[in-house]
This record gives sequence, structure tokens and C-alpha cells, in this order.
Amino acid sequence: MPYFVYAIRLDRDAMGDTPPRAFRDQNWHMDWDYPLHDGCEYYYVGQTVHSPECRFEQHKNCHGDFRAFKCICRLRKTITKSRSNKYVRRFGLFLAPQFYAPFNPMRTRKQAEQAEKDLSDKIRELGHCSFWN
Ligand SMILES: [Zn+2]
Repeated sequence: MPYFVYAIRLDRDAMGDTPPRAFRDQNWHMDWDYPLHDGCEYYYVGQTVHSPECRFEQHKNCHGDFRAFKCICRLRKTITKSRSNKYVRRFGLFLAPQFYAPFNPMRTRKQAEQAEKDLSDKIRELGHCSFWN
């Protein structure tokens, strides 16, 4: 079964130059005491057995009292528990395949978990911010 990594652009304007502590802690390469440069972008990174598109929809629409999310990828699953990160739910804008496409697909969960870390590092090396959990 194939696995995928994905990155979702977060709304930096909405999150501001002082995002939540957990987010800042994962982005030690930034000096949060000073304003960020104009080109700095925020991303959420994850890995999944669903397609990146399906996972994005889950973050946006599969949470709270919602109890029967119909998966839109080849798995055709009905998901009955919350599958939503709060940052993506509130601030997620769109998928950023220019970063993750070269990694996909992968053969094992272990490879995907490593790629999740590598993708986060790659985004930070480009001067952006990345969050995963
Ligand atoms: Zn799916």
C-alpha cells in the first residue's frame, strides 16, 4: 500500500509573526524576537496512507461532531473520528506539491515518517517555517 507525505501552506497573515509556542519551538532557525522576512511562508507537514488531497479535506472537514467523513481517495473509507490538526483547520490554505511531489509515493510507513522529517528540513532550509506532529 503506498504512503505519501504532504505539505499544506498555512495563512501566515492570520497566524502572525508570533505563532503559537509549539509552532515556534519547531522553527528554531527563526529569531522570533525580530520580524520575519517578507518571503517567509508557513507550512504544515504530514504523512498519510490517503492521498494528499484526501488528507487536506480531512483536516478541513473531518472534526468536531462530524461523524461520517467520506474519504475522496482510492481507499473509499468512511472516517468516524476527528482527523484534523487545529492549525490546518483554522489556517490551511492549499497543498504545496512543489515541495512533496518528489517524495511520493513511498512503499512503507517507515519511509513516509522519515520523509516527513526530511520534507520539514527542506522547507526550513529554504527559509520557511514548518510544523508537524
Ligand atoms: Zn482517503
